[in-house]
Amino acid sequence: MDFYPIAIEKLIEEFAKLPGIGNKTAQRLALHVLNLPQEEVKEFAEALIQARGTIKYCSNCGNFTDKDPCSICSNPNREKSMICVVEQPKDIMAMEKVKEYNGMYHVLHGNISPMAGRGPNDIKLRELISRINGDIKEVIVATNPNVEGEATAMYISKILKPLGAKVTRIAHGIPVGGDLEYADEVTLSKALEGRKEI
Ligand SMILES: [Zn+2]
Repeated sequence: MDFYPIAIEKLIEEFAKLPGIGNKTAQRLALHVLNLPQEEVKEFAEALIQARGTIKYCSNCGNFTDKDPCSICSNPNREKSMICVVEQPKDIMAMEKVKEYNGMYHVLHGNISPMAGRGPNDIKLRELISRINGDIKEVIVATNPNVEGEATAMYISKILKPLGAKVTRIAHGIPVGGDLEYADEVTLSKALEGRKEI
């Protein structure tokens, strides 16, 4: 790629660092940017800096937010007795498409994977435990339906049950090995509806 001026090469390099972007796509995106009006490029760059600078994690649930606690945690109309446990903030967005769910969330920011050497202390499990009290009627574990997600669900159930919490797992409407974020609304709604105690 050394036939490009350094500024373009740098741009391609930066795009290629993004998840799912190969060299070819990075090149296409970089060249696309060069054809955009100056003003649009400026807006794009500012959006990147603005988002990174103002977005943090909610100290209660771990969701992305620009104010703490986040809009879900501070919404008085949400059911406080239910906590839906997910792996990543993007899973909250997937769950929010299911209109029937009106409870709270907890983001683990990962999963337990003995194979990869990730244990309970590598995810936000202690934070979840600290949220369990007599007012919590149900903890719905909505980790991804793969080996790590299942291992995480079992561990959460083992830890929370002695605390008196009812722990349920969303049903396998989602294809095994699939990702919560790619499940459509109907599938996710059915998975939620068919949840079972674990
Ligand atoms: Zn929150």
